[in-house]
Amino acid sequence: MKKKNPMKKEEIIQKAPKVLLHDHLDGGLRTSTIIELAKEIKYNKLPTNDPAELAEWFFRGANKGNLVEYLQGFEHTIAVMQTKEALERIAFEMMEDMYLDGVCYVETRFSPVFHQSKGLYYEDIVKAVLSGLQKGKEKFGVGYGLIICGMRNMKNTLEMAEIAVNFRKNGVVGFDLAGEEGGYPPKKHLDAFQFIKRENFNITIHAGEAFGKESIWQAIQLCGAHRIGHATRLREDIVYDSNGKIVALGELAQYILDTRMPLEINLLSNVHTGAVDKLENHPFISLYREKFRVFLNTDDRLMSNTTLTNEYLTASDIFGINLDDIEKLNINAMKSSFIPYKERLHYIYNVIKPGYQKIREQLLSLKEF
Ligand SMILES: [Zn+2]
Repeated sequence: MKKKNPMKKEEIIQKAPKVLLHDHLDGGLRTSTIIELAKEIKYNKLPTNDPAELAEWFFRGANKGNLVEYLQGFEHTIAVMQTKEALERIAFEMMEDMYLDGVCYVETRFSPVFHQSKGLYYEDIVKAVLSGLQKGKEKFGVGYGLIICGMRNMKNTLEMAEIAVNFRKNGVVGFDLAGEEGGYPPKKHLDAFQFIKRENFNITIHAGEAFGKESIWQAIQLCGAHRIGHATRLREDIVYDSNGKIVALGELAQYILDTRMPLEINLLSNVHTGAVDKLENHPFISLYREKFRVFLNTDDRLMSNTTLTNEYLTASDIFGINLDDIEKLNINAMKSSFIPYKERLHYIYNVIKPGYQKIREQLLSLKEF
């Protein structure tokens, strides 16, 4: 007699080793921490002091279908991230949350420009975050890399790029361009990208979320991105049949496929910002089936009320991906990480593959999954 699978799908995905490369530190705070820190610094603009209500408030605010409103929730998270102690605590708690979510390696990102309102220097800000990440690694065994973001609507992106490079021996693994996409094309920050390239360092760029394929093209061909955050609107360079299957690729999409350009897909946040109208229309699954180097991410866990487990669970529910797919997607992510090649191999062969094998052995019937 066939035994019933004792593990729920969510539990299986949670246990499976996962890799997260697109997560915003200031978009993933625990609401209980926000409330505690706000009390300490007498910040009284929070809409509520109840953790569950506050979580609900962030999610409601984010889920309005455009990026500008989505970004408004950051006013409160950033307000409580203005001391070294708060930054270190938030980074440490993020590592614990990763551990609880079954993430074996995370690249988190943030921009030091938002953490100076109480007089901290950029170096102190980055050091405090790195210290929290390192303590988290030591306690929870989760690997990490930090990505420094420049903001598209600011002029100091070269300075942010320099900070990223200055901390490359201490856990910073790359540079990102983030923030509102419309009206702020990546090519306006060429000096920052050229600096990173000259230093043989790593670039990822938010592109093709709120703006079209032109933005993705600029990020890759003018700015030298090694990965693209979102790339949702690459669909504009792809011809689909009536079933949503890819029938032809434009030159940019073909280039991205052929060069194995990693695409950091964020399913739920794309719905919340309006980059897609509904999950069923997300290009993720067709890109994956066509063998693009894609993998799933969380973007802003607090605003999008999500975890990496939840993103993979959602993809499994909506697109029917199974455990083998989830393993493959996480190997795609690890291959795309900004840590040295040998370390990537270590995670793939000593952590990810054995982790999925162990789960398969535990499962009595894969068919049910
Ligand atoms: Zn993002």
